[in-house]
Amino acid sequence: MRLGALEAGGTKMVCAIGDETGKIYEQVSIPTQTPEITMPKLIAYFEERSVEALGVACFGPIELDRNSPDYGCITSTPKIAWRNYNIVKELADKLHCPIGFDTDVNGSVLGEVTFGQAKDKNCVIYLTIGTGVGGGIYIEGKLLHGMVHPEAGHVLIRKRSDDTYEGKCPYHKTCLEGLAAGPAIEERWGKKAALLADMAQVWDLEADYIAQALTGYILTLSPEMIILGGGVMHQEQLFPLIRQKVLQMLGGYVQAKELEDMEHYIVPASLHDDQGIMGCLELARRELVQ
Ligand code: ADP
Ligand code: ZN
Repeated sequence: MRLGALEAGGTKMVCAIGDETGKIYEQVSIPTQTPEITMPKLIAYFEERSVEALGVACFGPIELDRNSPDYGCITSTPKIAWRNYNIVKELADKLHCPIGFDTDVNGSVLGEVTFGQAKDKNCVIYLTIGTGVGGGIYIEGKLLHGMVHPEAGHVLIRKRSDDTYEGKCPYHKTCLEGLAAGPAIEERWGKKAALLADMAQVWDLEADYIAQALTGYILTLSPEMIILGGGVMHQEQLFPLIRQKVLQMLGGYVQAKELEDMEHYIVPASLHDDQGIMGCLELARRELVQ
C-alpha cells in the first residue's frame, strides 16, 4: 500500500509517504501558517505522490463524530485562522482518497501500539508534555473518542503547598497543562525548561504533578503501559522520579505485575519521534480496509 501521513501541528505540518509496515519513504516539514497558505502546499505534496489513503493526526480540539456535519473540523483552537476549519473535507475534496482522522496524541499512541513497544497491548496511554499537555488513549483495539475525545492534559491537579505559581491554563489555571507544560515551567522558574536541568527542585515538583495525573489515569483506565513524550520529557531524570511518586500515590492499592516492573510500565516513546507519523500511516491503512 502507498499511504500518506500528515501530522498536523500548531507550528509545523509533517507530511510523509510510507506503507502499512510503518516504513517511511520520504518526509517533509511545512510551517503551519493560515489554511489559505498552508493547505495548498500539503495538497500539492500528496497529489504529486499519489497515495491510496491518507492518515491525519491533528492538533485540536477536533470533531471526530462521523455523524456530525462538522466531522473533520478543527473546532475551538486558540489558533484563530484554523478555528472551525474543516481540514478533512478540504483534503478529501482535492485528493479523492479515504482520509483517516484523529487527534495528534491518538496518532502517537496508535504508532506505538502498531509498530512500537506497546504492540499486543490492549490499553495504552500516550501523554505528551511539551508546549501543551495531551493524552491519547488506545483501549480494546480502538482509539478512545467517547463524547468528544479525551483531554487528559487538563485534569485538575492538587497544587503543592510550596508552589506559589498561579497556573497558566486559561480555562483551569492549575490543571496539568497549566502547572507542568513547558511554558508553565518557564514562567514559574524564569528560565526555559531546558536550562533548568541541574535544579533538582524543578524536576521534583514537575514529577509530582505528572505523577498525580498518571495515578488518576491508572485508577480510571487501568492501562498496561504509559508512554511519556514531548519536549519536557527530554529531562530523563523525570522518569525515575515519576515512577517512584506514582507508586507512593497509589499507596499499594492496585496490585499488578506491571507495577512491579515500573521501568517497563512508565516509559519514553520508542520510535525515535516517528510515533506520530507512523500512527498516521496506520490511520490511513485502517481507513482503506474498513
Ligand atoms: P510541541 O509541544 O510544540 O509539539 P515540544 O514537544 O518540543 O513541542 O515541546 C516544546 C516545549 O518543551 C517547550 O516549552 C520547551 O521549553 C520544552 N522543552 C524542549 N526541550 C526541552 C528539554 N530538553 N528539557 C526541558 N524542556 C524542554
Ligand atoms: Zn486546563
